[in-house]
Amino acid sequence: MLKFKPKIIIGFPFDITMIAKFATEKNISIHSPKTIITYGETLSLKRRLLLEKYYQTKIYNFFSMHECSAMISECENGNLHIIEDFGYTEILDKNDNYSDNGTLIGTSFYNYSMPLIRYKIGDQVEMEKSKCNCKRNFRIVKEIVGKQCDYIETPAGKILGAVMSHSIDNAKGVIVSQCIQDSKNHLVIKLVIDKFYNEISEKKLEADLRKRIGNKMKIDFEMVTQLEKNMGGKTPFIISKIGNKY
Ligand SMILES: [Zn+2]
Repeated sequence: MLKFKPKIIIGFPFDITMIAKFATEKNISIHSPKTIITYGETLSLKRRLLLEKYYQTKIYNFFSMHECSAMISECENGNLHIIEDFGYTEILDKNDNYSDNGTLIGTSFYNYSMPLIRYKIGDQVEMEKSKCNCKRNFRIVKEIVGKQCDYIETPAGKILGAVMSHSIDNAKGVIVSQCIQDSKNHLVIKLVIDKFYNEISEKKLEADLRKRIGNKMKIDFEMVTQLEKNMGGKTPFIISKIGNKY
């Protein structure tokens, strides 16, 4: 990277973080690109700030999929816009009515060889009503919640998605993390940590998690150097192994 000096780095937030962590540990000064574009995984605020600090550059979040049915991209004001001239994008609730909070349905204008009409992408999005003053007349997405399989289900039936990262990201010394649910009552939290992580961070972290998941689940913390990746090479923040209906 130092030799090539890329102007733009595009990649999964996890991998880009790990490169920066490696460079920091080895005392290698890291190349600062003009910008970094992240996609494929949830980009929490903490991860974004960490990456901006490591690389001394601005991060832009981007959402698309191999089927090219919809595209969401961040503008210079930090708002996520649906790219409306890329495809016809609909957001539908459970009853297939138009909604500000529902499932993303996409019809691309560009895929001539395999046109997908009203393709159900499956990611949940929440829309923002206000307009952006970047002057793009494209709708704004408040949050890309992700697919329904990306959640933890507590014994009490509570469903928790990316919100879990709020607890974990605030723990001192945590670089990246992953929640794996391998049974209804058991959660493994894998953590890649730095020297600032200690017993106090762990106690605070568990207390924070308990507020969300309650006291019935057993939590094990595992310090690791690598998180689990899926087939596509992504490192999901949440992995559910309990074979729920999704
Ligand atoms: Zn904008």
